[in-house]
Amino acid sequence: MKYISTRGLKEEVPASEAILNGLAPDGGLYIPTQIPYYDIKNKRFLNNTYQELAFDIMAPFLADFTEIELKSCIAQAYDEKFTNELIAPVKKVGNDYYLELFHGPTLAFKDMALSILPYLMTTSLKKQKVKEDIVILTATSGDTGKAAMAGFANVPRTKIIVFYPKEGVSKIQERQMLTQEGANTFVVGINGNFDQAQTTVKQMFNDSELKDQLKKNKQQFSSANSINIGRLIPQIVYYFYAYQQLVLSKEIELGEVINVSVPTGNFGNILAGYYAKEMGLPISQLICASNKNNVLTEFFKTGHYDKNREFYVTNSPSMDILISSNLERLLSLITERDPSRLNEMMLDLAHKGEYSLAAEEKQQLKDFYSGFATEEEIALIVKQVFDKENYVIDPHTAVAKKVADDYLKTNVSDLKTIIVSTASPYKFPAVFLGEAGLANEVEKLSELTGLAIPNSVMELATLPLRHDRVVDVSVMKNTVLSLLNS
Ligand SMILES: *Cc1c(COP(=O)(O)O)cnc(C)c1O
Repeated sequence: MKYISTRGLKEEVPASEAILNGLAPDGGLYIPTQIPYYDIKNKRFLNNTYQELAFDIMAPFLADFTEIELKSCIAQAYDEKFTNELIAPVKKVGNDYYLELFHGPTLAFKDMALSILPYLMTTSLKKQKVKEDIVILTATSGDTGKAAMAGFANVPRTKIIVFYPKEGVSKIQERQMLTQEGANTFVVGINGNFDQAQTTVKQMFNDSELKDQLKKNKQQFSSANSINIGRLIPQIVYYFYAYQQLVLSKEIELGEVINVSVPTGNFGNILAGYYAKEMGLPISQLICASNKNNVLTEFFKTGHYDKNREFYVTNSPSMDILISSNLERLLSLITERDPSRLNEMMLDLAHKGEYSLAAEEKQQLKDFYSGFATEEEIALIVKQVFDKENYVIDPHTAVAKKVADDYLKTNVSDLKTIIVSTASPYKFPAVFLGEAGLANEVEKLSELTGLAIPNSVMELATLPLRHDRVVDVSVMKNTVLSLLNS
């Protein structure tokens, strides 16, 4: 199994090289040359722990990793830093099944992949006999930045620089980032939004002046964003794991078809679900749930992608995105990996901000249902789920719940639905409380719900602020140049 670029570069590279590069040299994303099959009826599936299943699912994708290497990465990633021993437990709440992906150190699902990525990367450095150190450049809508820094803090031979939209993240998210320890971590607020951060970061990967500077310093760039296959592959695991839990708890029979509803931003999480389906997991519909930035809702309904629209900062900020990078990987699959067609669409996106699918191409999207939730609907769902079930969900998860309910209103289906729960409610307490800006919102949330405050939130109050840079988008590159030499 090797990796090729979506944009047509002929060279096939092994997983370790794709992980180190992040983005392919032609600006495309790496995709696996084939998607392996995983038989859920194999004898081990139902007995596997999270770690064992992670090995079975990831091994074929990481064909150049030895068994010992991969098992060691997995063991170091999925350990006690997850506060739930199942790592990714499924909770039955009413008729819904919530796959809780927020029990990692930073309380969002990004931990599922970013706790293992640093180990995959340092193993790749050794395998590829790379002499340069790694500089991770990352744009974050709030959760990736913290999770990536937590993963890479003090990892030898790495440095990490994170850009986040200064006015576009929750108070807790910002405090988590600004208190980050580790001499190799740097956080920079920008006067701009996530899309601007992500676009500028992508440009920097291919900037020759920066590359020369890196070479002089014996460094090379890589990415911790979900454009890196080292992010995507670990995310496939929990779809299988959730399914296993439903079988073990006798909610479904082995082989029974289910739906999944995923709160979507950069299209990484749901793409991992699509890969799981392609690998053989019996998923019928992948429900792509957006907030008011509903560019994907329109795309799946009409085949027309149009980012020329107002950008909203919402109460589910990790999904405030108009350019969903990982969609490129899906487009590559549905255009039968025809790079010329893909380049056409990506050029249209870059120059006009839009592109359209042909009718046959649109036909290939039938596995996806799309919908969105407004901020008022999100707040209402959070309240309703708590009032009815005494279960607290965060605003991102509420988006997935709302759109899953919409699906059932318009489609007759008796399939069970997994709602992917991507953040702890403690990361976004203002939505539950209904009033932003409360000084003691964490205590208030705990008081009203009886839900224990996670330690990682408690300690935020006393940790010193260690980062204070804020820059304009136009000087992001200069900031990187000066940080490279620090
Ligand atoms: C990143 C994130 C999302 C969106 O995930 P994508 O993989 O970017 O689609 C949803 N919810 C939360 C809490 C997140 O941190």
